[in-house]
Amino acid sequence: MSRTQIPGPEILGPQALDAARRCGVDVEALAGDGAHRSPVNGASLGGVRWNDVAEIDAVVTRSHEAFLEWRRTPAPARGAVVKRLGELLTEHKADLGTLVSLEVGKITSEALGEVQEMIDICDFAVGLSRQLYGRTSVSERPGHRLMETWHPLGVVGVISAFNFPAAVWSWNTAIALVCGDTVIWKPSEQAPLTAWASAALLDRALREAGVPPAISQVVVGGPEIGEALVDHPRVALMSATGSTRMGRAVGPRVANRFGRSLLELGGNNAAIVTPSADLDLTLRGIVFSAAGTAGQRCTTMRRVIAHRSVADQLTERLAEAYGRLPIGDPTADGTLVGPLIGEPAYTAMSAAIETATSDGGTLVAGGSRVLAEAASDAYYVEPAIVSMKGQTDIVRSETFAPLLYVLPYDDFDEAIALNNDVPQGLSSSVFTRDQAEAELFVSDEGSDCGIVNVNIGTSGAEIGGAFGGEKETGGGRESGSDAWRAYMRRATNTINYSGELPLAQGVDFTV
Ligand code: NAD
Repeated sequence: MSRTQIPGPEILGPQALDAARRCGVDVEALAGDGAHRSPVNGASLGGVRWNDVAEIDAVVTRSHEAFLEWRRTPAPARGAVVKRLGELLTEHKADLGTLVSLEVGKITSEALGEVQEMIDICDFAVGLSRQLYGRTSVSERPGHRLMETWHPLGVVGVISAFNFPAAVWSWNTAIALVCGDTVIWKPSEQAPLTAWASAALLDRALREAGVPPAISQVVVGGPEIGEALVDHPRVALMSATGSTRMGRAVGPRVANRFGRSLLELGGNNAAIVTPSADLDLTLRGIVFSAAGTAGQRCTTMRRVIAHRSVADQLTERLAEAYGRLPIGDPTADGTLVGPLIGEPAYTAMSAAIETATSDGGTLVAGGSRVLAEAASDAYYVEPAIVSMKGQTDIVRSETFAPLLYVLPYDDFDEAIALNNDVPQGLSSSVFTRDQAEAELFVSDEGSDCGIVNVNIGTSGAEIGGAFGGEKETGGGRESGSDAWRAYMRRATNTINYSGELPLAQGVDFTV
C-alpha cells in the first residue's frame, strides 16, 4: 500500500483556526481548556471552551422564545434564510472541507462531498418551504370537511457523531428551520470548530434576514451536555445520531418525558454478490463502501455475502485492490484512506480481527497499523478483509473501522437471511444482473434495512431520499422524501359549515 506524508504539528492548528475564522468564528472568544486533537497527526488544534450543563436551561429558553417568533414567519421566508445558508456554504466550501479533514480525518474529496451534501439539503429545504402539504379528506357528515394541517414542533435538539461532523446538523437544521422549528446543536466533541464554523454561516444568514439569532445555537461538550438536552421538557424533538449505545441511553429518557426522538444509530451493512454480478463494478462498489472514509461511515460496508462460486475470486481481487489503496494525510492529493478517529478505534479493530480469526476466520488483507513512526499519536491502518466460514457474534457487531468480513452462501434465500441476521438495519446492497434476485431483495421478503440498493454499494446516499434504518439503527428518517414530517406536528381539523350539529357514527345526543 502506498503512503502519503503526514503534516507536522505546527501546520494543522493554525490552518484549522484560519479556516474557522474565515467562516466567521471568533476563535479567541471560544478558546478554553477542552482538549482538541487532530486525528491526522495527533496535534493539538487549540483548546476550546466547553459549555457547562448549568447553561443548558437558559439556552433552551432562548431557543423557545426565538421559536415563538420564528413560527410566525411564513415558511417561504424561512426557506429564504436556508437559501442564503446554502450560498454561504458554497462560498466557504473549501474552509469547511478543511475543517472536516483536520478534525475528523476525512480525505479532501469526501470532506468536500460532506459540504456539498449540506448545500444540497439547503436546496431541498428551500423547495420544501413551499410544499409543506396537508391533505383534505371527505367527511361522513353533510356540510363538513376534514383536513390535516402541519405545525412546527418547537425546539429541536440535534446530537451528532464525529464521522459526519457537519452534514448531519444540516440535514436536521435545513428541514427544521423551514418547518418553523429552532435548533440547538450538540456536535461531536471531536469537531467543535467544524460546528462553530457551520453555525457561524447560519448566524450570518439569520442576521442578514433580521431574525433572532437564537433560532440556531451550538452547545459544545461531552455526553452530559447531550443528556441535559435529552431531559429538557422544552426540547420537543431530540434528533440523535451516533452509536447504538448512545441511542439506548437517549431513546428511553426522551420517551419517559413523552418527547419525540429521531434516532440514527449504528449499522452493520452487507452486500450480497451473486453469480451473475458484474465483478468489475462490484469490486469498485465494495472498495469505496468498505475502505472509504477509513471504514467510519454508519453505512460502511462491513460484510460481503458472496455466492460460493465467486467468493474466492472476489476475495482475491479485493485483497489486490486493498493493496493499492494510498493511506496517509487526508488532505494530500491522491490519498484514499485517512486516519482512524483515535486509538480506541484501532484497538477495537485489532480486537475484532483477533476474535474473528479465533472464530475460524482468515485475515486475507490489511489490519496493520502504518505511519506510526511519522505520527505516534495518529492511527492509520490498512483496511482489512477477513474471510469467514459463517456469521459469528463479532460479525454481527459494528466495529467502527475498515474491517470487512466475507461470508459464503449457496442459495439466495440464505444470503438474504444472512443479510438480515444482525441487530442493526441501516443499509444493504445486492450486486446482480438477475432481475428476479434484484426484485426479491427489495421486496417484503428481502432486506430488512432502511436502505436497500441494487448494483451500488451501501454508502454514499443522496439527500433526496429518506435516510435511516431499522432495528438497532433506531428507526429514524432524516433528509429527503417526507422526513420533514418528523419535525412537525399534525392536526386533524373538522370544519362544520352545515349549520347543524350531526354527530359522527350517527350518535344521537339530543338533550
Ligand atoms: P457516539 O455515540 O460515541 O457519540 C455520538 C454523539 O452522542 C456525541 O455527540 C456524543 O457526545 C453524544 N453522546 C454520547 N453518549 C450520550 C448520552 N448518553 N446522552 C447524550 N449524548 C450522548 O458516536 P461516535 O463515535 O461519535 O460516532 C460513531 C457512531 O455513530 C457509529 O456507531 C455510527 O454507525 C453512528 N452513526 C450513525 C449514523 C446514522 O445516520 N445512522 C450517522 C453517523 C454515525
